[in-house]
Amino acid sequence: MPEGDTVWNTARVLQRALAGARLTGSDFRVPRLAATDLTGWTVRESASRGKHLLLRLTAPDGPADGRRDWTLHSHLRMEGAWRAYVPGERWAARPAHLIRAVLRSPGAVAVGYHLHELALVPTAEEESLVGHLGPDLLGPDWDPDEAVRRLAAHPDKTIGEALLDQRNLAGVGNLYKCEVLFLRGISPWTPVRAVPDLPGTVALAQRLLAANRGRWTQSTTGSLHRGQTSYVYGRRAQPCRRCGTAIRKEELGERVTYWCPACQPERS
Ligand SMILES: [Zn+2]
Repeated sequence: MPEGDTVWNTARVLQRALAGARLTGSDFRVPRLAATDLTGWTVRESASRGKHLLLRLTAPDGPADGRRDWTLHSHLRMEGAWRAYVPGERWAARPAHLIRAVLRSPGAVAVGYHLHELALVPTAEEESLVGHLGPDLLGPDWDPDEAVRRLAAHPDKTIGEALLDQRNLAGVGNLYKCEVLFLRGISPWTPVRAVPDLPGTVALAQRLLAANRGRWTQSTTGSLHRGQTSYVYGRRAQPCRRCGTAIRKEELGERVTYWCPACQPERS
């Protein structure tokens, strides 16, 4: 599932494939960008902010509206992905009908599958896309105190929903939310005001995401073996790895949540 670590990894893939390159072609398969051609544009850098990808480009001399620095924004949500191929290699990652963007350079072809919120905006206006986000868990400017402050500002929200709200902190998705709360022994339904150690919870979320940077298998248990990578996420009705109680799965807000009713007692 694309969460902050996956998006961070993806930004690095695009950075290695395209940074510094002059594009030799582009193909956008979304209505909003169907007429956009980035041939001749230079890729400055690839970055992530929470779960958002920002590919920063410089237009060739004399762009029509006078701006040089632009950002191609994309969001992976649940299923999106970018892959880098060498020219001539078969694009085998996903079915072709899921392709939303193709960027060609002399040394690499980047193919974006099932992307959401694909848009080309002036880099100066990036904040209109990501300015609402809380501190980025994997950003160079990660600010745990600010994340705690934002969480605490809505004390009656459930911690399960608050950790997913990207305005509080950016990068936690459903997998890390479930796993952090298990490891801290906190029920997902606990109101934020009753969480015993909010800074510790935030710090653990950051450590789990950071530990998975640089690899595509997301693990919170330390094991990379299939079926052993999580404590509760995706393990409904299976025995808790600590106490043997059956893991439960229920809706919480707009998402499902997994938890162990014995290890994560409700507080209020
Ligand atoms: Zn348990």
